[in-house]
Amino acid sequence: MGATKKVLLLGAAGRMGQAITRLLAAGAVPGLELAAAVDRPDAPLHGQDAGTAAGTRALGVRIAAELAAAFAALPDVAIDFSSPAVTAAAAPRLAAAGVAWVAGTTGLDAAQQAAVAKAAEKIPVVVAANMSLGVNLLFALVEQAARALKGRGYDCEIVERHHRRKKDAPSGTALYLGEAAAQGFGWNLKDVAVDGRTGIPGERPEKEIGFHAVRGGDIVGDHTVLFAADGECLELSHRATSRDTLALGALRAAAWLPGRPPALYGMRDVLGLNPGTP
Ligand code: NAD
Repeated sequence: MGATKKVLLLGAAGRMGQAITRLLAAGAVPGLELAAAVDRPDAPLHGQDAGTAAGTRALGVRIAAELAAAFAALPDVAIDFSSPAVTAAAAPRLAAAGVAWVAGTTGLDAAQQAAVAKAAEKIPVVVAANMSLGVNLLFALVEQAARALKGRGYDCEIVERHHRRKKDAPSGTALYLGEAAAQGFGWNLKDVAVDGRTGIPGERPEKEIGFHAVRGGDIVGDHTVLFAADGECLELSHRATSRDTLALGALRAAAWLPGRPPALYGMRDVLGLNPGTP
């Protein structure tokens, strides 16, 4: 095995940041160590040891406010679960510093996505709305199902459920599931996506994919894709019961990414679900 890779964690005080810190401390993916942790200056855990702040052993890395200070630790790879604005602002700085980047933040607008894509001209970047193995398999299964059911009278709807603190809706995972279904049907998602329904929308045309976002409690993340026809309904579902499945995927990506050619990669590349991964 190669040398240990140093991880810069952006959004270290957040839910995902803490889950990743705990898994790093436990050595869940060998060959990675926490080298720097960043969160905003007014985050309640700011200045604390990242390990103890996440409820595990002290790691000797304080949660700092400045990306510049984090670069002094010479990280090999950044793991980012922060906010769209933070992610977009970090893009040129990570590219200039030559740090590989696992970008997990969701809800980016077109300009913010463009900033990430531009960084990927200089550094290898993994972008994934969902880092779990199960969900990435689900993407492939949904595309396959839509291809098989195309033109046979099956209506596709996507229902997602998340905790009450989630900021974006529908979830990035739901949108990506929509992309997978649209691809299977041979449609362009933006032409067929409908965000919930209210009032009197009228009869449903076949060429439509509906998104429905439920918010409540501490639900980690549930996604169901329905293919409903006259007489039957096929449902493909995934339920995350712990954030650890997402955090583990981010760590797998962080171990896989440094040293790859600059490009935008997905979890299908990391998990070996894509033929032809470099
Ligand atoms: P969270 O709100 O718990 O954590 C976000 C953290 O970013 C917070 O600690 C916040 O203080 C920090 N932050 C805000 N401004 C900052 C700044 N200027 N500099 C540094 N840090 C800053 O949210 P979360 O549940 O951990 O999710 C974070 C993001 O990751 C969201 O976009 C969420 O949708 C996404 N997410 C993606 C996946 C995936 O698998 N790709 C999984 C879960 C969550």
